[in-house]
Amino acid sequence: MNLIPLPAFSDNYIWLLHDGHNAIVVDPGDAQPVLNALQQHGLQLDAILVTHHHADHVGGVNTLREATGARVWGPARERIPEPLHRLEQGDKVVELGFEFNVMDVPGHTSGHIAYFCQSMEGSPLLFCGDTLFSGGCGRLFEGTPSQMLTSLDSLAALPGNTRVCCTHEYTLSNLKFARAVEPGNVELTLYSAWCEKQRANGQPTLPSSITKELLINPFLRTRQSTVVAQAVARQANGQDEVAVFAAIRQWKNEF
Ligand code: ZN
Ligand code: FE
Repeated sequence: MNLIPLPAFSDNYIWLLHDGHNAIVVDPGDAQPVLNALQQHGLQLDAILVTHHHADHVGGVNTLREATGARVWGPARERIPEPLHRLEQGDKVVELGFEFNVMDVPGHTSGHIAYFCQSMEGSPLLFCGDTLFSGGCGRLFEGTPSQMLTSLDSLAALPGNTRVCCTHEYTLSNLKFARAVEPGNVELTLYSAWCEKQRANGQPTLPSSITKELLINPFLRTRQSTVVAQAVARQANGQDEVAVFAAIRQWKNEF
């Protein structure tokens, strides 16, 4: 299986997964990069997987459906271009011969879902939309800090070698913030240097992995004493894990 992040707009990735003949894409905000890739590799688009309703994730859905006849899968509780196969926690999607498990991950939007494929050759795959980014997490447009923390906890519990396919190349700016939160985190310093080199060479920093994110992402590290101390310095109750998470998220909003 081939996994390719197709750049779209200024910093989106549309993930393309294909076996040389058939393909799926995740969150096609724009149809053209997908149509180009299908033509270039000679692929038939079987399905479109959508994580949430924002335009930069669904803008290309209708054009791609009309051009290819692809099935469209998406969250049960959001407005996505119809016709749509509606999904929620525990549902399974089988595409390209692989089973994807649907996880509810509210926070960025209230109906946001993620797709996890344990059985993918190589290592497991996670399509997490705008919930988890490398070094960061999505803004809380519709959900609460408590919901987002629960969602991130469910992603953090996935196997460490899971490839984390985020929908934005936000890594460098996220890591700048992460270094402000944890200036003494050596893993973070090393990872930042690697990501800077990737970007300087025009390469994506993604996919990341759950193991990597647990080491460097402040939003998966809100129970670490270093991160709690930063939240307490911003008037959060250090005993309350949701308050700690909310304080770090608020700091990032203003950073
Ligand atoms: Zn979004
Ligand atoms: Fe987005």
